[in-house]
Amino acid sequence: MDSLPYPDGCRGAVSLTFDDAHPSQLSVAVPTMERYGLRGTFYVNPREDYRQQLKPFAELVARGHELGNHTVSHPCSRNFDFVTRGLEEWSLEEIEADILEAARRLQELAPEVQEWTFCYPCYQSDVGEGERRQSYTPIVARHFLAARAWGEAANHPGRVDLHYLGSYDCHRRSGAEMIGLCELAAAEGRWVILTFHGVGSGHLSVDARDFEKLCAHLGAHRDRLWTAPVVQVARAVRRWREQQRG
Ligand SMILES: [Zn+2]
Repeated sequence: MDSLPYPDGCRGAVSLTFDDAHPSQLSVAVPTMERYGLRGTFYVNPREDYRQQLKPFAELVARGHELGNHTVSHPCSRNFDFVTRGLEEWSLEEIEADILEAARRLQELAPEVQEWTFCYPCYQSDVGEGERRQSYTPIVARHFLAARAWGEAANHPGRVDLHYLGSYDCHRRSGAEMIGLCELAAAEGRWVILTFHGVGSGHLSVDARDFEKLCAHLGAHRDRLWTAPVVQVARAVRRWREQQRG
């Protein structure tokens, strides 16, 4: 690609995303990222106790991090043992109502935020099953600038659906492996999104030393790799696409 959407001559973009508000994200991931001048995206579920539970995450916005919508009730397929009422039983109206309630609560927590991105719980983007199964991506596209899904692929800025962005699950990945994913993205002009849950502890966690290695690399190579929250890269991609069309 001759022209790229990234600033300052960067060859690739990286977004570090964190799901489900695990406490280790505040105690380990945030201080590690900030030590290297990096900022991340935190996809949270504003449940009933959101004012208290998510206050420390909302406070990250003032320091340049992103707070994102991950629905109120985190609906997933009933194929997971922890799910009582699966997405198979949900309607499009119900999922939209849940997402909009999450949006309302998050806006209350972070009134300064003007543009939001979304993250599909369990990477799943359909309701219903069999012949009645339907994607809820069109609803997400109506309400958000961009949305993170799965896909284990880096995003081509000219081709990817901004409302179904690919990401890599980083559960137990080594530092070298995560750095490799970022370097591969830069070699191809792409935008890689890494997904984390626990950092150093907690469910689906990555080792804190591996996470630190990744952050040290991204901090040292900021001339080539643009690390920024999802909302910032999505905005840059949108602007670039408009320019490309002339
Ligand atoms: Zn989640």
